[in-house]
Order: sequence, then C-alpha cells, then structure tokens
Amino acid sequence: MTKSNVKAYAAQSATSGLGPFGITRREPGPSDVHIEILFCGVCHSDLHAVRNEWSSVMPTVYPIVPGHEIVGRVTRVGSAVAKFKAGDLAAVGCLVDSDRDCPRCTEGLEQFCPHLTLTYNSPDKHLGGVTYGGYSDSIVVDERFVLRVPSNLNLAATAPLLCAGITTYSPLRHWGVTNGKKVGVVGLGGLGHMAVKFARAFGAQVVVFTTSPGKQDDALRLGAHEVVVSRNANEMRKHAGSFDFILDAVSADHDLNAYVSLLGLDGNLTLVGAPEKPLALAAFGLILGRRSLSGSAIGGLPETQEMLDFCGKHNITADVEVIPIQKVNEAYERLLKSDVKYRFSIDMASLKS
Ligand code: NAP
Ligand code: ZN
Repeated sequence: MTKSNVKAYAAQSATSGLGPFGITRREPGPSDVHIEILFCGVCHSDLHAVRNEWSSVMPTVYPIVPGHEIVGRVTRVGSAVAKFKAGDLAAVGCLVDSDRDCPRCTEGLEQFCPHLTLTYNSPDKHLGGVTYGGYSDSIVVDERFVLRVPSNLNLAATAPLLCAGITTYSPLRHWGVTNGKKVGVVGLGGLGHMAVKFARAFGAQVVVFTTSPGKQDDALRLGAHEVVVSRNANEMRKHAGSFDFILDAVSADHDLNAYVSLLGLDGNLTLVGAPEKPLALAAFGLILGRRSLSGSAIGGLPETQEMLDFCGKHNITADVEVIPIQKVNEAYERLLKSDVKYRFSIDMASLKS
C-alpha cells in the first residue's frame, strides 16, 4: 500500500508539548474518503490523552497526534464510495472504524462497539502503529465513518460539533430532555456550552453551574435561564431536589454529591466529563430520591449525523476562538485555567506555513 507524507502536530511524551511531526496516511481503498482538513477543534480529551492522564483506561502511545473534531473537504474517493465526491464538505469525529456487524454497530451505537477504532491512539488496522488524529493536513477514513456537513454552517464553528456537540446532544436526547424539563449543565467549557445550546433548543429550563463568575453573562447569552456560581453554597441550596436531569461536563476533580442533592425524585446525573482521578459518591444521595448516576460516551454515527442536521436546521454551532496550530500548547494551558470561550478551533491552513 502506498503512503504519503502528511504534516501534523504531535506530542513525543507526556511532558514534551506538541510540535511539528511528519506522518503517513494510507492511499484511499475502495470505500475510503481522502479529506483535506480545514479545521480541527481542541477537546479537553486531547489534553488528557497528550498528558497520559487516562493511563489506567487507555494509555497513550507516543508520538500522539490528537484531534477528533475534524471538518474538511473531500479531495479523492475510492471506487466504491457512494456518499461523497471530490469537492464535498465532510466531517470526522471520534471514531474511524468498528466491528460494523456486532449488535451495537447494527443499532448505530458504534461508540460502544467492543472493537471500535478511535480517531487517534487506537491500533491502526491498515498501517500498524496507532491512528493519528486531526491535528494534520489530511486524513483517510472509510466512508461509513464520514459525516455530511450542512452547507449553511461556519466551518470553524462546526468542527467542535463532532465531539463536544454529539457528546452533549446524545445524553440530552437519551434522558428525554424536552419542553419544560429542568436541566442543569455543570462546567461551561467546550462541552458545557454546547449542552446549554441544545438543552435550550429542546425546550428545557436551563441552569448553568460554573466555577467562573466571569462567565455568567455568557451563560445567559448562550441560552441559560439562570446561572449559579457553584462555589456559593447558598445559591446551590436554593435548587435542592429540583432537577430532572443534570449533565456534568467537568474535566477536573469536583464534588459530585453537591449535584446529586439537586436532583428531584428519579432525577438523573450523567457524567460526560472524564477527570483523571476517581470521584467520591455518598450512597445516601442516590438512595433518598431514587436518583441515578450514569455516564455517556460521544454518540453513534446515525445520531451524529442527526445532530449535524439538527444544527444545520436550527443554525447551531460552537462559539469558537480560531487559532493557528502554532498556538496549540498555549491553548492547552488556557484549557487548564478554564479560559476558553468556548472552544479552540485550529485553522489547519496554519500547518502549511
Ligand atoms: P473544557 O472546555 O476544558 O471545559 C471544562 C470545564 O470544566 C471548564 O471550562 C470549567 O467550567 C470546568 N472546570 C474545570 N476545572 C474545574 C474544577 N476543578 N472544578 C469545577 N469545575 C471545573 O473541557 P471539555 O472539552 O468541555 O471536556 C470536558 C470533559 O469531558 C473532559 O474531561 C473531557 O475529556 C470529557 N469528554 C468526554 C467525552 C465523552 O464522550 N464522555 C467526550 C468529550 C470530552 P467553569 O469555568 O464553568 O467552571
Ligand atoms: Zn472530544
């Protein structure tokens, strides 16, 4: 199989930061789509992976080329590709392959397939080694894992939908967030701000919990009805026992019990945030109120396309700060300070300079 030299940004170790790196991509096979990457969002998961913070679950193989919020233009397609042609817009999220015929894949829940291939840091079935993600100028992906992009959306602001978008859309849908439900969103970062937009679009009464008092006006502008500064115990207490659903999108250690106590009878708290260390939970918080705690991972391909189409119809995108790839290490430092408004989107043209 022929290979091509592709410019990318990689981390060589947990402490090296990211820098220029050359990678190879496979020549497109019959069902493959070759995409020139235009924008790639910066997810906090990229940072966790680059710094090997998830070593107990998915240890990082170095060098790592992160990036799973990919939007680009199709440059070439294999002979059997039906969905795309050269010149089309296309998007790739966190998945680039899976079993395809196991019960989960058949249901369109590829994110729970036991043999899924993540866009980066997964064994690469074609070239050996591990998969390399979207901090690069092109990618080759089987058409089944390539999404269509609505033509009316800004591309830099669309890229984050491929992870932050679907990761929040999916649990809000799964837990029946509709008109009149009271919904909390914890952590106003990349995921959190998309959760606010979706929950509001689904008709919910939306309350944002933030540790950053400076984000209050933004939270309201993004669609929240109310904002609570979570470090203020009095403000928190006012909402005790009142929520139908709370989505927790926090990337670091925090007190879950404070949010469990805000759920009403049969209320659910879903974790999408994946901090490095385990979180402590007091059993009585769940017991008294038949409350539940769950998790959710991105979304399957059909639901990801549904989400993109929903965004096209309702004109929903991420609020982005577009950066050149040369500023990605700085962007990571700002993520750690909760200083992102509300997603960094890398303009991949900068990789050429
Ligand atoms: P992000 O943009 O960095 O946002 C995280 C937010 O969490 C911050 O903006 C901040 O919001 C809050 N926060 C940070 N440190 C905190 C602390 N010590 N205590 C309380 N709140 C704190 O990150 P992201 O990209 O949205 O990702 C969030 C998490 O979701 C990460 O762990 C990521 O790996 C995970 N994730 C999971 C999935 C999945 O499929 N489940 C998919 C993508 C990402 P405030 O300033 O408002 O407090
Ligand atoms: Zn992500």
